[in-house]
Amino acid sequence: MSTASFSLTATDGAARTGVISTPRGEIRTPAFMPVGTAATVKAMLPENVRATGADILLGNTYHLMLRPTAERIARLGGLHRFMNWERPILTDSGGFQVMSLAGLRKLTEEGVSFKSHIDGSKHMLSPERSMEIQRLLGSDIVMAFDECPALPADRKRIEESMRLSMRWAQRSRDAFGDRPGHMLFGIMQGGLERDMREESAKALTAIGFDGYAVGGLAVGEGQEAMFSCLDYAPGFLPQDKPRYLMGVGKPDDIVGAVKRGIDMMDCVLPTRSGRTGQVFTRHGVVNIKNARHADDPRPLDENCSCPACTSYSRAYLHHVFRAQEMISGMLLSWHNLQYFQDIMAGMREAIAGGRFAEWEADFHAGRAEGDIPPL
Ligand SMILES: [Zn+2]
Repeated sequence: MSTASFSLTATDGAARTGVISTPRGEIRTPAFMPVGTAATVKAMLPENVRATGADILLGNTYHLMLRPTAERIARLGGLHRFMNWERPILTDSGGFQVMSLAGLRKLTEEGVSFKSHIDGSKHMLSPERSMEIQRLLGSDIVMAFDECPALPADRKRIEESMRLSMRWAQRSRDAFGDRPGHMLFGIMQGGLERDMREESAKALTAIGFDGYAVGGLAVGEGQEAMFSCLDYAPGFLPQDKPRYLMGVGKPDDIVGAVKRGIDMMDCVLPTRSGRTGQVFTRHGVVNIKNARHADDPRPLDENCSCPACTSYSRAYLHHVFRAQEMISGMLLSWHNLQYFQDIMAGMREAIAGGRFAEWEADFHAGRAEGDIPPL
C-alpha cells in the first residue's frame, strides 16, 4: 500500500513550497483548503471546487458525527464517495466545534461530553472516539483531538489546557495506530506564550506526527498578535513536516502566515462571504449589494478566470443578489474560492522562483488601490 509523505521543494525566507503526496493525489503547498462542513462546500459542486485549483477539502468531524453520523457515512462507502470528492480530505478532530457550538459541555481528562446543537442529544468525544470517527469517514489527514481556550485567557488556563492537549495527543497517536497512506497531525497549543509553544512543540515532536498544526490562533487575538506568535512558533516544529494553521483566514492573514512558514490553511470565509455578497478581489473587498454596481456592465475582475467574472456583469451579480436568487451564492462563492486559490498558486510560484517579497509587495499594492472607480 502506498504511503503519504511531504517533500519541501523550495524556500524563500521563512516561506516554503512543497508537495504532500497521498494515495488520493498530491497537495501542492502552500495549500488553501475549502471547508465542506456538512459533506458539501456550500453552493459548489465538487468538480467546480476542483476547477478553482483546490487539491484538498476539509470536513468537520463535529457536524458529520451528529448528522448523518460517521457510521452511516462508513456504511455508504466513506466520505469521499458520499460527497463525490475523490481527492484528499482533511478532517478536524471535532474538539474546536464542540467548544464553539455544542451546549452543556463537560470537560474531563477522558474527553468532552456535550449536547448536540441540532437536537439536544447527548454525545461524547475523546481522543479515541475522534480517531474512530475520522477513520470511519476515511479521512486522508486526521487531526489529533485537542482542547483550546478562547483568547484572551490567563496563563494558568492556557498551561493546563496545553498539557491536557499533549496527553490527548499521545492518546490520539496510540488510537490512530499504523495506517499506511493516511497522515496524523498533532496540534501545538500554548496561546500567545512563547515558552508554552516551545514546550508543546517538544512534546508533539517526541510523540512523532506526520504533520503539525499551530492551534489556538485565529480565536479572537487579532492579526498583530497572531503574526507575533507565527514569527516564532513554526520554527519550533520540524522543517521536514507540513505545518497547518487552522481556521485562517482573510487574504492578508493567509499571505502573512505563508511568509512566516505555514504550509496549509482552511477557512469558511470565501464561501460564507460569497453568500452575503462580499467579494474578495485583487483590489480589495467589493460589496456587490452596493447600488454603484446596478448599471455596471463590467466584470467583477477582468483578470479572473471564474464564471462569475467571465460570463456575468457586475449589474447581473448585483441583481441576483438583491433578488435573493440561489445563483448569487453559487457565483460569488466560486469567485471567492477562485481568488483564494489564485493567491496560493501565485505564492507557490513566487517562492519557487525566489520572488516572494516582490509578489507580496504587488499583492498589498493591488489591495491598496481599491476597487475600480464607478462608471
Ligand atoms: Zn472571478
